[in-house]
Amino acid sequence: MTPQHQDIKHILQSERLNVPVRVYGWVKTFRNDRFIVINDGSTIQNLQLVIEPANYDEAFLKKISTGAAIYAEGELVESLGKGQAVEVQVSKLEVLGEADPETYPIQPKKHNLEFLREKAHLRPRTTLFGAIMRTRSSLAYAVHDYFRRNGFVYVNTPIITGIDAEGAGQMFRVTTWEPENIPLDEAGKPDYRKDFFGKKTNLTVSGQLEAETYAMALGKVYTFGPTFRAENSNTTRHLAEFWMIEPEVAFLDLDGDMDLAEDFVKSIIGFVMKSNAEDLAWLEKRLLDEEKRLPKDKRSDMPLREKLQFVLDNRFVRISYTEAIDILKNSKPAKKGKFQFRPQWGMDLQTEHERYLVEKHFKSPVIVFDYPADIKAFYMRLNADGKTVRAMDVLFPGVGEIIGGSQREERLDVLLEKMRRMGISEKELWWYVDLRRYGTAFHSGFGLGFERMVQFVTGMGNIRDVIPYPRYPKSAEF
Ligand code: ATP
Ligand code: MN
Repeated sequence: MTPQHQDIKHILQSERLNVPVRVYGWVKTFRNDRFIVINDGSTIQNLQLVIEPANYDEAFLKKISTGAAIYAEGELVESLGKGQAVEVQVSKLEVLGEADPETYPIQPKKHNLEFLREKAHLRPRTTLFGAIMRTRSSLAYAVHDYFRRNGFVYVNTPIITGIDAEGAGQMFRVTTWEPENIPLDEAGKPDYRKDFFGKKTNLTVSGQLEAETYAMALGKVYTFGPTFRAENSNTTRHLAEFWMIEPEVAFLDLDGDMDLAEDFVKSIIGFVMKSNAEDLAWLEKRLLDEEKRLPKDKRSDMPLREKLQFVLDNRFVRISYTEAIDILKNSKPAKKGKFQFRPQWGMDLQTEHERYLVEKHFKSPVIVFDYPADIKAFYMRLNADGKTVRAMDVLFPGVGEIIGGSQREERLDVLLEKMRRMGISEKELWWYVDLRRYGTAFHSGFGLGFERMVQFVTGMGNIRDVIPYPRYPKSAEF
């Protein structure tokens, strides 16, 4: 790209002083009719512009307020004030677009996150959301970079799917029908043959099943795309629309799958620690400031970047589900009746259990494997015990489950039997079953919820604050 102007990031990185610069940006603050601090989104750093007030009339100066878009030409000089190394002595200034201070909601003060969610179109102008979204973007790049370096093929699986239920969550129906005018069949039921696709269709809850078909041809593949779940769970870790990364690998067993998951998350975290060092430093300071208001025992053990480094430096603990239940049964909170759900073999691990294992017992990311077959999806490989499946979940501090994966059932008879028992239609998934008919082989994969990773890396408590426009029950503004 040939830039017509310079990004603030590049201006601040260049070590050449007394050179002409041309910058655009939005005003953060304007003090003493002289100092305009602007940001253009290229970096968390602002640039200070210094103007001579006598050169402008009062009406013009009034237009310079927080949020206004401006253009400036001038000379980059060493700054005499503290707080910045360089600044721009302005020779020409234009206000491109004013921002009426009476109504512009983003003022130079701390806004609470609920307020900013209602102003989701303007919140990227805040320092906080700039830092989050730059970090998110780098993480996405790191994902593609990791898979590319390791020989994976990027596969785009469909967003509209003909799969009606695969157990991952409630689905959103896709149709062109008007609700008051639905074609009915002879029995008075909706006649889906007359709908757009000639059958029931939904938004995808996962690209896995289709990804498997590509893994069984190209070997190592991954998907990275939007996923939809109509789950009515108003938690800080669930969205109705989120992005998922799903690698799928032929000739890989569950141990290899766990190795891949661990290596992958360490790689992308390591990447952003370098690429977004300034953003993370700022996010860390924000968290420390927030926590000062909390009682000591509610504060986190480690500052943000230390926590990220800790993940890089330590091997994730790996325990079977059965071991996890034993640890939970013998734990203090279980004995004191402090868990809302009493740990019992066969139950799904609740958030309180996951957090106990990760934050209290092991103080480390934990991979739990070999879950009871009854609480996991139909496609997970049955173990010899007949009771457990080759599933694994990666649990992280703060966010809980960040990855869910498994070795897939490759034996035709076992798969069909399982589908029958779980009420999964063989007729609908004929193509998936075909994989077990033609050249079947052991293979594995997992799904990483991208927003949960962004949450972990940025330290944000609510998943609604790590995606530009969050979708959740009763909320689809913007
Ligand atoms: P949970 O128990 O937290 O609801 P899940 O078991 O439904 O997760 P999977 O179906 O295994 O999750 O999906 C893989 C990953 O996708 C999860 O580990 C998580 O990181 C992410 N994920 C799942 N549901 C959501 C959601 N509603 N919003 C955001 N991320 C999600
Ligand atoms: Mn779920």
